Amino acid sequence: MFTPEQIQKIAATLTEKKLNACPSCGRLKTLEIGQALVAFPLQHHPQFGINLTGQMYPCVPLTCSYCGYMMFYNAVTLGLAEALGLSTTKEAAANG
Ligand SMILES: [Zn+2]
Repeated sequence: MFTPEQIQKIAATLTEKKLNACPSCGRLKTLEIGQALVAFPLQHHPQFGINLTGQMYPCVPLTCSYCGYMMFYNAVTLGLAEALGLSTTKEAAANG
């Protein structure tokens, strides 16, 4: 789970990026930061669910409070790896 300090850091980082309105409903200021990282596992072979590599894209989830649309921002790309306690060499895949 994100700490209040981590939520603040994520919010400040995303605010700097000047995100657009929700791409689904078009509303402004409805995007909410999720409670914890979401990890998308990398698959080096096509047998999904069988041959997990242990590598992942660690992502910050945002949910539109109006329509429920979800977006996922790569925490490493945002420069938040250290703030969120990620190791960029083993557990995180920066940009693929
Ligand atoms: Zn929306």
